[in-house]
Amino acid sequence: MPERKLYSFYKGIFSGDVLNFSKRSPFVREIMLERINPTRIILPMKMHYGVPAIPAVKAGDAVKVGQCVGIPAKGSFSVPVHSGISGRVSQIQEIRLPNGIITPAVIIENDMKRTRLDSLVPRSNLKLSATETLSIIRNAGICGMGGEGIPTAAKLSRARSKVVSDFLVNCLQSEPYSTCDLTAIVEYPDYCVRGACACARSVGAKRVRFLVSSGRKSCITALENSITKAGKDFNDLTIEIKLFRERFPQGYYRLVARALYGKEIRADETLEDTCDAVIFNCSTMLACWEALADNIPMMNRIVSVSGDSSGGHNVLVPVGTPLSEILANVISSNDSDNRIVWGNCLTGIEITNPDMTPVIKITSVISIIRRNEVPRTPCIHCGLCSECCPMNLSPDIIYEMLAQDLKQKASEEGARDCISCGSCSYVCPAGIDLTSAIAGFAGEGRVIEVNSLLHNNTEFNVPAGCSSVGEVSLLENYGDGDDSSGAEDPGRLNLPFEGGKTV
Ligand code: SF4
Ligand code: SF4
Repeated sequence: MPERKLYSFYKGIFSGDVLNFSKRSPFVREIMLERINPTRIILPMKMHYGVPAIPAVKAGDAVKVGQCVGIPAKGSFSVPVHSGISGRVSQIQEIRLPNGIITPAVIIENDMKRTRLDSLVPRSNLKLSATETLSIIRNAGICGMGGEGIPTAAKLSRARSKVVSDFLVNCLQSEPYSTCDLTAIVEYPDYCVRGACACARSVGAKRVRFLVSSGRKSCITALENSITKAGKDFNDLTIEIKLFRERFPQGYYRLVARALYGKEIRADETLEDTCDAVIFNCSTMLACWEALADNIPMMNRIVSVSGDSSGGHNVLVPVGTPLSEILANVISSNDSDNRIVWGNCLTGIEITNPDMTPVIKITSVISIIRRNEVPRTPCIHCGLCSECCPMNLSPDIIYEMLAQDLKQKASEEGARDCISCGSCSYVCPAGIDLTSAIAGFAGEGRVIEVNSLLHNNTEFNVPAGCSSVGEVSLLENYGDGDDSSGAEDPGRLNLPFEGGKTV
């Protein structure tokens, strides 16, 4: 049983059922997980934090389920891209994602045959070294699914070089309309637990801690059962559940550090250095175990489709599925006038072209929101935005400074600490979009140094017997590389931000 103590940060948003729009609990299995097989997918080469992959196929090529269609250049901070359907490449074209990223995309027409690569079979030997574990995860194209999309193998490498003792698994999904992480836990608890344990072992951690909101009984039960089952295979690890209060934005690493360890982390500090811990999203751990145990690259994901008038849905779709194909399956025609938001309703981006807007690796939710026009007025100095800001900022003051182009003063006021949670805009009775201004400023100028530990320094090789990399999933040659290269020189590390920002 998890201990009774409840952890939390202060402030943020806690408003009873107001944020509890989607069907969070109890889960109704019939509507929990609907599988959608789209007629085509649009696979952007950049779905992660880093540089785009390079298309490994061309128009007219046949593609199988699991096949690598995008490959990272050596030395780049990037991950490969895989197809979740079989069919034929219709074209490769540049697209613009709602977050402003312009990237090449491989468009594949589905032949509906679901022809899989022969290599997508469960791995017979699961006694993997740390190097093999990281290599498989890197070749599977896995990046953080909780929002920021940092390549998972790179983050594991960094944790390994720091020799952390705590491996934290973020099961604290608190965004309105979002239940995809909770779905992953309830539907695939063994994968989440075993993925976390395997990753924890690969970085040398001693303790795995699942962070769960106390109200999510079904998740807690599922995790408890799976932890019991996994215990004998991972008896070198202490595995426990830590309960948190329901509060938004619970789960951001600096707030977790405050709640769990009682420590403040500055923007230029890391969880590894300050708390001897590293944190990963639970859906990312599920993807890791799929790669490690089943040899399946990151080509599908669970997405919540929900809103204040649309009920709750969680769909399992190939990465790249256009939003229009999902909406056609789950939303009634009465909802056609609503706003479609790529992401959650607090920080997501409204889109107008669902035909050309794909689900990417970090898309956790599609929100359908009624088109209520918020009356906008000047600031009435109510102070609500400061009361809710989890980073203890004064959003109204910072907003004014930025409006007057006083960037230095805004920095001194702490603007760069903004985690773009959206809480201030949500509570503002004047309808001022504080988040866009402050978060946009906070995100400026964050770069990843060349030669950082988070770069991939491994060549992706074509295995013997294959004429091109486009014929394989890349998981066939997992033993080739070691992501720990450069680990002796942590001074070269430049940490990208870890939460809340758009990629
Ligand atoms: S978006 Fe930024 S300024 Fe607004 S409440 Fe969240 S952390 Fe504070
Ligand atoms: S919540 Fe809006 S109206 Fe109230 S102080 Fe902040 S900016 Fe001004």
